Parts: sequence; C-alpha cells; structure tokens
Amino acid sequence: MANEPIISLRGVTKTYGSGATAFQALKGVDLDVAEGDFVAVMGPSGSGKSTAMNILGCLDVPTSGSFRFKGLPVESLDRDQRALLRRRYLGFVFQGFNLLARTDALENVELPLLYRGEDKATRRSKAMATLERVGLRDWWDHTPAELSGGQQQRVAIARALVTNPDVLLADEPTGNLDSATSAEIMALMTELHREGITILMVTHEADIAAYAQTVVHFLDGLVERVDANGVSA
Ligand code: ADP
Repeated sequence: MANEPIISLRGVTKTYGSGATAFQALKGVDLDVAEGDFVAVMGPSGSGKSTAMNILGCLDVPTSGSFRFKGLPVESLDRDQRALLRRRYLGFVFQGFNLLARTDALENVELPLLYRGEDKATRRSKAMATLERVGLRDWWDHTPAELSGGQQQRVAIARALVTNPDVLLADEPTGNLDSATSAEIMALMTELHREGITILMVTHEADIAAYAQTVVHFLDGLVERVDANGVSA
C-alpha cells in the first residue's frame, strides 16, 4: 500500500525494571512516520525520546503495543531477525561520532559493508562514493584526529549511508558542534532528505528542529503533540 507509513507505533509502552522499582518510560505511544519524512524528536530530558529511538532502531523491544516497520510487526521478530532488519534498512548517527580512532575515514565508512561480508573492491568503491556524497572525497586517508568535528560527523553520516538505508536515525547529530558547523551538517541532512531518505532526529534545539518537516514532541512518556511545518496537527 503506497500510503502506509514506513514506521507505525500503536500503544507502545516500555517499563524498565520490575516490582517496586519498575519505571514506565513510555506510556502508550502512537506515532506514524510517512516514508520520506524528516522528523525532529523533541522533549525534556527523561521524556522517553531515547527509549523510543532505541525501539525504532530495533535495539530494544516494547513491553507492550505494536511497532510496524514497512508493515512488518517487529515484535514478532527474534533478536537475529531484528538485527538483520537493522542492518538492511537503518542507518545510525550519534552525537559522539563513534569512529574508530586509528582508522582512516575510508575504512571507517567501509566497516558496515565488512559486517555484511562484501568483498574489498566493492567496499572500497561504495565507501569512496559515499565519502564523495558527503563532501569528503579528498579526506579519505585521514584519521578522525586529523579531521575537524564537522568532518568527523560527515564520516559518521557516510558510514550510516553506505549501506543505502531507508531510514536514518540521528541522536543529537549536532550536539558537539559549533553553530556554523551545525548549519553545514543540517544542510547535508536536508539534501539527503531531498534525495528520499526518511530521517528521525533527536534534538534539544529549536533552530535544529526547524530543518525538519515534522516535529514530534515527547512529554512524560507520551507523544504530546505533532507539528507539521510549524502548524499543530
Ligand atoms: P530522554 O531520552 O527523553 O531523556 P529516556 O528515554 O532516556 O528519556 O528516559 C526516560 C526515562 O526512563 C527516564 O526517567 C530514565 O531515567 C528512564 N530510563 C531510561 N533507561 C533506563 C534503564 N535502562 N533502566 C531504568 N530506567 C531507565
């Protein structure tokens, strides 16, 4: 079905711990994300953003409720099947870049392809093409220490993109960057969105969220509000 959301959460709860120390981090989240949307996830600290992103990233499972990805009920998959789904369809970008320190940009970007068992020549050509896509063609043989913060984040974005994912999940991708560099990274994200990738991005900053098409506000374990182009929906 063409109009089916790529991501659909219904009544999703997540409880950490059990008994007297149990804590319900998500209290019944309903959320649809359309294919090709650019979503900013906002909300105060402790409102459940990371818990929701971990579920959307197939790194964790809900305590109850349903999560459909491309119509597939993710809760019915076992751990290995979820890992396959993650590797095939999702790309991750983190605040701290998480690059291998003594490894050059090209090999950092090749890594997800190595896990997939692709041969060296294919890895090289795909990684090089992806570095070019993020504007780092001439920096392929530099290690993270030889790159600026913005360049390191571009390498991390290239590493997330090299497997050609349908969805990019980004956790405060500009959290460590100054405002000029943040704007460059957001220009790149906007370009990727225009090319068709679905983006979900956690941010605390309203000016970063302004780059998105849709803003999802979490509050106290629930989706409080969804704004489209600045209009409450
Ligand atoms: P946010 O990302 O919006 O800051 P989180 O999803 O990280 O919120 O956390 C929501 C709530 O769940 C917080 O009160 C946090 O302390 C709690 N929490 C998160 N992870 C765990 C965990 N592994 N064990 C127990 N409580 C947790």
